Amino acid sequence: MKNIIFIAPPASGKGTISDYLVNNFDYNHISTGDLLRGEINKKSEIGLKINDIIKSGQLVSDDIITELLKNNLLKIKGSFILDGYPRNINQAIKLDEILNEIKVDNLIVINLTVPKDVLKNRITGRISCPNCHAGYNENIPSLMPKQSGICDQCNTTLEKRSDDNAETFEIRYQTYLDETKPVLAYYQDQGIVRSINVDRALNEIFNDIEEMVSED
Ligand code: AMP
Repeated sequence: MKNIIFIAPPASGKGTISDYLVNNFDYNHISTGDLLRGEINKKSEIGLKINDIIKSGQLVSDDIITELLKNNLLKIKGSFILDGYPRNINQAIKLDEILNEIKVDNLIVINLTVPKDVLKNRITGRISCPNCHAGYNENIPSLMPKQSGICDQCNTTLEKRSDDNAETFEIRYQTYLDETKPVLAYYQDQGIVRSINVDRALNEIFNDIEEMVSED
């Protein structure tokens, strides 16, 4: 299977698609957002430094995130999904260096497209279970928990990410347009970019993704 890089705006479904690929095709999933939130929860030196940056919707420094990414990528055996890296051209260049060093190729860059208003609606309703990590959405009837604010699967109180609000969304979306979207042009030159409309039913999205990642 191909190694995947997602280039996509916030709340476009990178995590949901990654879970599907991990469960069905044995992919390794590296989410740089999850790595950073892990550092915050551990209250590590890095975690203390980045807490306010993440809350405000800005990107953390390239050095911090590249080091974390590299440490995790070196541990992986098998195909991987990069969810959240690279977020700018400098990170794309650093990633090329790391992949050359560990002799990895067979890459596909998947560009998830979805209208801004749909993303905003998703992000402002997004909640998840801190215990079993099940995801829900208060703005989407089919994704609401049975009892408001409580996990259907383990009865834990659901939580909202500190950066999932309307104000921070605007900053994150603008950062995506200014810094991350231009990374597509970097990969377009290599002929490895595939785009997919993710404002559709999940089963249709999963089918298209499956075809993309098993291309020869
Ligand atoms: P995500 O979970 O991908 O939405 O990321 C949440 C937040 O983590 C982002 O808004 C950034 O503050 C930070 N972050 C995640 N990945 C990166 C990255 N590659 N470079 C810089 N900041 C990042």
